[in-house]
Amino acid sequence: MATELPRTNVVVVGLGAAGGVAVLPLTQAGLDVVGLEAGAWLAPADFSPDELRNNYRGWPQSVQKANREVPTHRPTASAPASPRPAIHPMMNAVGGTTLHYWAQSWRLHPWDFKVVSETRRRYGAARIPKGYTVEDWPFGYDELEPYYDKVEVEIGVSGQAGNIRGTIDKRGNVFEGPRARAYPMPPLRGTGFTDMMAGAARSLGWNPFPGPAAVNSGRYQNRAGCVYHGFCARGGCHVSAKGSTAVTTIPKAQRTKHLTVVTEAHVTTVAVNAQGRATGVNYLKGGTEYFQPADLVLVAGYVYENVRLLLLSTSPAFPKGLSNNHGQVGRHYFSHNQQSTVSALFPRDLNAWYGLPAQGVAVDEWADDNFDHGGLDFIGGGNLWVYSDRRPIAAAGMSTFGRAPRWGSQWKAFVKANADRWNTAYLQKTTLPHEENYLDLDPVVKDPLGFAVCRITADYKDNERKVATFIQDKMVEWFKAAGAIATEKTGMGTMGPTTHAYGGTRMGDNPETNVVNRWGLSHEVPNLGVLGASVMGTSGSRNPTLTAQALAWRTADYVAKNWKTVAG
Ligand SMILES: Cc1cc2nc3c(=O)[nH]c(=O)nc-3n(C[C@H](O)[C@H](O)[C@H](O)COP(=O)(O)OP(=O)(O)OC[C@H]3O[C@@H](n4cnc5c(N)ncnc54)[C@H](O)[C@@H]3O)c2cc1C
Ligand code: SF4
Repeated sequence: MATELPRTNVVVVGLGAAGGVAVLPLTQAGLDVVGLEAGAWLAPADFSPDELRNNYRGWPQSVQKANREVPTHRPTASAPASPRPAIHPMMNAVGGTTLHYWAQSWRLHPWDFKVVSETRRRYGAARIPKGYTVEDWPFGYDELEPYYDKVEVEIGVSGQAGNIRGTIDKRGNVFEGPRARAYPMPPLRGTGFTDMMAGAARSLGWNPFPGPAAVNSGRYQNRAGCVYHGFCARGGCHVSAKGSTAVTTIPKAQRTKHLTVVTEAHVTTVAVNAQGRATGVNYLKGGTEYFQPADLVLVAGYVYENVRLLLLSTSPAFPKGLSNNHGQVGRHYFSHNQQSTVSALFPRDLNAWYGLPAQGVAVDEWADDNFDHGGLDFIGGGNLWVYSDRRPIAAAGMSTFGRAPRWGSQWKAFVKANADRWNTAYLQKTTLPHEENYLDLDPVVKDPLGFAVCRITADYKDNERKVATFIQDKMVEWFKAAGAIATEKTGMGTMGPTTHAYGGTRMGDNPETNVVNRWGLSHEVPNLGVLGASVMGTSGSRNPTLTAQALAWRTADYVAKNWKTVAG
């Protein structure tokens, strides 16, 4: 029998990127919030520059929730299961994955909100590729802009604006949607390598710019500026220069005295009453079961856990899972195609052994709909991104570009000579939801508590393949213009578990095709909300987190302003 706790206004499941942002506007509005977080608080001493621990062993060792419930994968419903990775790099701690993420903090492009209508307008209805279930978002970029702005200021984003209220600045991204004002901090500094790549982009007639990062380029809100020592790709920041919600919005929300953080609390199900309203959540802490009653439940445990929690929460009112009477939970799932990379070998050292992966230079000429697709057979594109970051184990894993064997003394000599002479570009490409791609519960594989893990049935389809080929060619062109003596493309692989997952509880006005409404609240359960990229219906050509955080703030703002209606 679960111990029933005192009632609260809002319970948030997971205090990561999205949940960790939402608690601030909720508590500032005076609502009492209980944040249930599966992980613990981590301290600066936990953020050591340890590549083996951070990148290969899946830390923190204390709570390995994400690693114990890695989703299974099969490319199609009739294909055998893919090999299951031993770890999943999402974090279980207060602050979630913002503790050790790269902190690239991109806004989506206006086109990403209107893929269907803009494609029809510019190229005709036949150009929406077949089998894809993409819809326009229920609102445009303008509607989210004020929330992007709020999050950028609260977590601290460094960057160079390219479009302030329609005035274009070529030092920034000339393709970005209009911003109300500049970034709160100037961009992170460049390096010799990124300056060289920026020059090469200019020689091709492209407009390179420094990417936005939730990393302090100088002292900001009483947190230190970045010291560019690196090792924070999957490692936390020991001086709190990275704007994790653990050092920004969550402590600020705690200072309102309206936030109670409960750590090592593993939420297992959302409870509902006979009327189909959420009544609270069940969780396990230290082997004891608790019930946290709440007027509103906000699920924010990352895409796979959001979907899993809803599917595990069956009841007479929702026999197929919570908010799933229309069969949409798990649908419109996709993972961002970050594969199909390009590596390059240069004739001299690049000095990329220091710095961080958010310290880079981008080109957006070939992203989204920034170029004419009239003569092409795909929609969307990719953001080209090169960055500074080199760690010993990763460096030793470099390609030999066909110039040396992959073992023995010749291999060792090649790596010794070239470990600082290569770079791999990070190419994020448009990925769209497809009717054959979805999440559900694995019928066989369970987590240690006996709950089914998420099963991914998904693969890249035609549009993703065509975008990838096109973007890789552009990247080869860029590397060659910078003097690369060899380039190498990797394959696309399949849509296995990822750190850039989207959909599964998509947002939209139509309850027949979407789980949550335009405010992030369930169409079927009025006092249940979902936070995170699981509500996003398109990916754009860039990382998801800032958009997920802006959406979380917008949901929280709506809840606070309409509390009586939402809480019933
Ligand atoms: C190495 C790495 C680098 C990345 N770099 C970038 C980047 O540069 N830019 C970018 O935009 N994105 C990046 N990402 C992706 C980014 O981290 C995610 O998009 C983002 O963190 C997702 O936010 P979220 O709140 O949904 O999940 P998370 O931030 O992972 O937070 C979810 C929280 O919920 C908790 N939780 C889960 N289940 C339960 C449960 N049942 N009960 C209680 N608590 C629970 C977890 O412990 C966690 O703290 C990166 C990810 C990784 C792993
Ligand atoms: S490189 Fe910057 S953000 Fe990364 S850990 Fe060091 S100080 Fe922190």
